Amino acid sequence: MSRSTYSPEEFRRCFPLFQQAENRGLVYLDNAATTQRPAAVIDAIADFYRRNNANTHRSSHRLARRATEMVEQTRAQAAAFLNAHSSRELVFCRGATEALNLLANSLCVGLRPGDEIVLSTIEHHANLVPWQMMAERYRLKLRYVPHTAGVPQFDRLGEVLNERTRIVSLTGGSNALGLRPDLSAVAAQLRDRSLHWIVDGSQLAAHEVVDVQAIGCDFFVCSAHKFYGPTGVGLLYGREALLAEMPPWQGGGEMIAEVGLYHSEYADLPHKFEAGTSPLGALAGLNAAFAFLQGQDRNAMAAHEQELVQRLHRELTQLPHLRLLSQPQHNLGIVAFAPVDAAPADLAHWLDGRDIAVRVGHHCAQPLIQAAGEGATVRASVAGYTTWQDCEAFLDAVREFQRIDA
Ligand code: PLP
Repeated sequence: MSRSTYSPEEFRRCFPLFQQAENRGLVYLDNAATTQRPAAVIDAIADFYRRNNANTHRSSHRLARRATEMVEQTRAQAAAFLNAHSSRELVFCRGATEALNLLANSLCVGLRPGDEIVLSTIEHHANLVPWQMMAERYRLKLRYVPHTAGVPQFDRLGEVLNERTRIVSLTGGSNALGLRPDLSAVAAQLRDRSLHWIVDGSQLAAHEVVDVQAIGCDFFVCSAHKFYGPTGVGLLYGREALLAEMPPWQGGGEMIAEVGLYHSEYADLPHKFEAGTSPLGALAGLNAAFAFLQGQDRNAMAAHEQELVQRLHRELTQLPHLRLLSQPQHNLGIVAFAPVDAAPADLAHWLDGRDIAVRVGHHCAQPLIQAAGEGATVRASVAGYTTWQDCEAFLDAVREFQRIDA
């Protein structure tokens, strides 16, 4: 399918929320926080509970077997979604946050005081706070990619690497600015170094087809609710050899092979990292989300989103009294700005009054927003169902706010 045949209107018709009478006028530009769910995902969740609900105790009875098959089939789809080498490399977590906490807790166990972890200033708090906690616990050193006004210069990553660097955990796309680092340039700087490279792909997986083998990272995390799937489930990809040697983070049922009073043997990959009952309804929804995405032309969708974000930037730069923080280049569908003479929250409130949903605040990236000299920004973020009419309604409302505020 060529780019010109992509229809956001047609895509939007798959999403029941937009068909509800009370949402007919809704302009939903808060997709970086969470996307809407298509009927296929909502139905699959309901269907699981209505017809198939059972816990995954493998062979105990018919429904349990079916639930187990569903989980493992979803895992195979997740492996295909990220182009992992094998399903054994795919661990289900509650979301990207839990996946990053798992990695932090598991990977830092063997580190020595003074070992270093490299992060960037545009990371989501989920990729900052777990490392800060580990740095305190194990007396590790956190270092940051060189930056200007909070925006990292990823081409200078090499300057903060040394023989003590053990982990490099960087975003695949910023939720506050949309900025998408050149991952091949990051890979080139990390080549031949003995360290673990983690990509926080929460925003990336929502907008681009991901190939973890092509990226060359050791670990990749994302949350299903950012790519039209359910809340409560996320993916952790890890190279099999690395996952195999890592200790589990959480203990309990499902992650064990044998349990004694003083010692237990852990289950094989990937179950070793999945303690307790999985979010089965959410996994049924994720299964449907993968099938749904397979039926879409994701490259055409990405081209449509790119066109919207370019046009939004062009229009917003024409407006006086706005500080634009985001850039149109290498952007995963986000515009971020602050009004010069008014509080960002007032503008967001104004937009909400016109049923235009954006996000205001620090977007869980407080160090970045502070380094940019702002207390908060307004963020509008697009998805496959966003139309140019949505963007025009948003721009008109911003213009009107400016006129009244002047
Ligand atoms: N990383 C990034 C870049 C994000 O955008 C988000 C969510 O906004 C997260 C991590 C955390 O995701 P979750 O809240 O689904 O665990």
